[in-house]
Amino acid sequence: MKIVRVALAVPLPHLFDYLAPDDMPLPPGGRVWVPFGSQKRLAIVVELAAQSAMSAEKLKTVLEPLDEQSLFAPIYWDWLHWAANYYQAAIGEVLFQALPVKLRNGEKSAQEERAFWRINAAGEKALAQGELKRSKKQAEALQCLLEQDLEKGNNGFSTTIWSALKGKHLVDEIRLHIEPKSWREALGNKPLVNSENRLTLNKQQALAFSQLMFQRDFNVWLLDGVTGSGKTEIYLQYIEEMLKTGKQVLVLVPEIGLTPQTVQRFKARFNVEIDVLHSNLNDTQRLHVWERARSGLNAVLIGTRSALFTQFADLGCIILDEEHDASFKQHDGWRYHARDLAIVLAQKLNIPVLMGSATPSLESINNVQNGKFKHLVLSKRAGNAGTLRQFVIDLKNQRVQNGLSQPLLEHMQSHLEKGNQVLLFLNRRGFAPVLLCHECGWMAQCPHCEKPYTYHQHQRALRCHHCGSQKTVPRQCGACGSTHLVTTGLGTEQLEETLKARFPNYSVARIDRDSTARKGKLEGYLADIQQGKSQILIGTQMLAKGHHFPNVTLAALVNVDGALFSLDFRAEERLAQLYVQVAGRSGRAEKQGEVVLQTHYPDHPLLTALLAHGYQAFAQETLRLRRAMGLPPFSFQALFKAQARDSEAAENQLARIADFFREKNIAGLQILGPLPAPFSKKAGRFRWQLLLQHTSRTALQKALREYRFSHVEKNTQVRLILDVDPQDLA
Ligand code: ADP
Ligand code: ZN
Ligand code: ZN
Repeated sequence: MKIVRVALAVPLPHLFDYLAPDDMPLPPGGRVWVPFGSQKRLAIVVELAAQSAMSAEKLKTVLEPLDEQSLFAPIYWDWLHWAANYYQAAIGEVLFQALPVKLRNGEKSAQEERAFWRINAAGEKALAQGELKRSKKQAEALQCLLEQDLEKGNNGFSTTIWSALKGKHLVDEIRLHIEPKSWREALGNKPLVNSENRLTLNKQQALAFSQLMFQRDFNVWLLDGVTGSGKTEIYLQYIEEMLKTGKQVLVLVPEIGLTPQTVQRFKARFNVEIDVLHSNLNDTQRLHVWERARSGLNAVLIGTRSALFTQFADLGCIILDEEHDASFKQHDGWRYHARDLAIVLAQKLNIPVLMGSATPSLESINNVQNGKFKHLVLSKRAGNAGTLRQFVIDLKNQRVQNGLSQPLLEHMQSHLEKGNQVLLFLNRRGFAPVLLCHECGWMAQCPHCEKPYTYHQHQRALRCHHCGSQKTVPRQCGACGSTHLVTTGLGTEQLEETLKARFPNYSVARIDRDSTARKGKLEGYLADIQQGKSQILIGTQMLAKGHHFPNVTLAALVNVDGALFSLDFRAEERLAQLYVQVAGRSGRAEKQGEVVLQTHYPDHPLLTALLAHGYQAFAQETLRLRRAMGLPPFSFQALFKAQARDSEAAENQLARIADFFREKNIAGLQILGPLPAPFSKKAGRFRWQLLLQHTSRTALQKALREYRFSHVEKNTQVRLILDVDPQDLA
């Protein structure tokens, strides 16, 4: 017997030892069934070991191996181990998460089979005896089958011929495993690109592109281009160059960016196999895509963050659009950042990463400044679009009706009269964020989160946007019994109602998670907008990002003041990015675009820097402040979060962890907390946090590793999470 060390999909940092017969093939990276407690669990072989810390009698024996070969190519294997180490995650969780669900559950990877027609003995006889003289085509088809089986649906004979032959029992339908064709073979003699819609690069684009062409090994490129400056066109031409050399390309987009419009643009350009990993795929389809990439059958794969774990036969580059987008960070399980991990993978594969944004993250801007990333700049809109006109409306002392000031309404009126579309951004679903008693001030609150319920008028319900719980709208105050309940604050539903009344001659479309919950709804609304059927567009983030509506000439941010006073030091950066995104929806074609911001704080330094000097200036100013305060990217953070029904238990858990680090006395390590999380209760659980910060990534990593293999006592009633490089301090 030999000893094999395996990883299980459990949140424990160590591996598990098992015995196996000497002649059992157990390649590292292959799956095995093992006994685990009273269960049978799937595991991944990590290594063979000479000896075990456990005594031989205690070791259990592997039940059954599943794979003859590793499921992980060596570079991906190394990379996943690196990731587990960096994010302090269990290797088992990382390896399993990197596989398609079907493989995680122990299914064999499927082989591709296709249906063929084959002549049988009766068929040969019929042909030899000339029985088919009256049906020439059928005879012809049989004749062809004498030479070779013909693939169903792809053989030059009509289906009626085949059903006739089948009806006469002269042919059989068989299934054959076929060696799949690489995407290049599948392309055959067709041209790689449909060049009729390929654009001639303008000067700035051409300059950026030639830099890209000049260096083809590992490099991180930050394509820093204003909205509409032609970043996507650069991606497309870059992909073309990669495909010319036979390589595959991975394109990562934010969750919200995976729209049919985006995918269509890629598919329209190339004649090659393009796969898309979107949320509507079932597990079989996901497995299929995974295998296609691994066998080199697809040329391009477009997907959101988890597509990064697809292994490719021959990857040429990784493109990452909207690199600043928060959706690249995983928020449960092990909390990786797809941008950062993509860079590590590219380094191991020695291929370039091209990432683009109109509003790069401050981390990336800093990495340009310290020479880690290469900077490509597109400062002008491509095509015919002109520059935007910006207006700030000071809400102080204005008459404001349901969140809309008189000047904003006038702006809207004038754009609508010209036959254009206007877009209003409001990041709050529902009718109103608060329902309260007019007589005593009581507020309808979610008992699990201790935050106000949002009032949803359409569904006649109160909903908690934090835990999803919901209840019917009360008729009476919960404290004094008064029936005089009123809403306060503004949600998209109310904005829609207000605008419908104010502009009865125009049609209003509201796009948020509620209005688009049913399948196909979003596509319907987007089509209506494209066709000009709706003139007033209201929406949350869903509407603000990525879309190209050529007729929108006015974009307005109705209320974003909350972000100016957030506890999270990244709130300002996010607000600036949001502003630029929303503004970017306006004036994308020939017509002059305008953007309007309503605020009570027009003199806030963030707003003045952003509006007067643009995102770059804002970024430089904010980086200066972050440096002065020792905040990321000038320091590195790890956030421990503890959640429990018993507040004290959560606090104590973190106190023990804080003590562990204090006792280590690590020079330069800042230990902040335990403190109640800014969001101190959610879904019935109290939340505490402990923040570690260090100016050296290596030192912080070292401290975390020591903790990982330490024996700090864990309370099983407390959910404990470690987030390395947290993006969100709430
Ligand atoms: P981004 O990805 O930076 O937002 P796009 O690539 O979507 O920009 O381009 C914005 C618009 O400009 C699109 O309508 C596109 O067709 C057009 N465009 C891009 N590059 C060129 C070019 N070189 N010449 C003419 N039009 C261009
Ligand atoms: Zn709640
Ligand atoms: Zn009351």
